[in-house]
Amino acid sequence: KFISLEGGEGSGKTTAIAFIREWLEAHNIPYLMTREPGGTPLAEEIRQLILNPREEAVNDVTELLLVFAARAQHIASKIQPALEKGTWVISDRFLDSSYVYQGKARGGDMAMLDQLSAWVVGANKPDATFVLDVPVELGQERVVQRQHQDRLDKESLAFHQKVRDGFLERAGMEPNRIKVIDASLSLDLVQQQIEKQLMQLNNA
Ligand code: C5P
Ligand code: MG
Repeated sequence: KFISLEGGEGSGKTTAIAFIREWLEAHNIPYLMTREPGGTPLAEEIRQLILNPREEAVNDVTELLLVFAARAQHIASKIQPALEKGTWVISDRFLDSSYVYQGKARGGDMAMLDQLSAWVVGANKPDATFVLDVPVELGQERVVQRQHQDRLDKESLAFHQKVRDGFLERAGMEPNRIKVIDASLSLDLVQQQIEKQLMQLNNA
């Protein structure tokens, strides 16, 4: 099984992934944790190219192509081999982040995203995608509390709102694959929602 985790800043992705790891271990399911952009040495180098601030701003089309280049490497050298062995793959972000960040939030061409998705990802879509959904204000509060520093801290509230809306829109388009988790609730209730989805997937 292939699962991706998605969500905006402060949505609790890291905590959710720790919970999924514990659940998989408790159920003796072999798994591989990975992330995007990145997941392989080459793809991690591409991640640095995208996320590290430099004097020359990363052009939006360049960013889009770099993210998909990293993804092509990630799928071929890590995700596919693991799935073939029956190992579950859990990816911290995947394809939907491209639609949301490079597409919706940065104004990328959606038709181009569909073409790149068909070409690069094809049938290798996740079996399930969990979108951790929180109101933008709550996400921002959580980010401030953990003093988290990354590129998005410089983004506007409007940007974060586009990210949230983008993920919910994606979920509406592929409701069978993309499950929205209400991540504004208590830790316990968030984990209950995730566990329900994991059990469904394990029995499918
Ligand atoms: O740790 P996290 O996954 O939240 O951070 C990665 C960051 O990379 C995101 O906050 C986002 O700014 C950026 N990103 C992106 N496009 C992607 C994936 C991630 O801009 N496709
Ligand atoms: Mg982050």
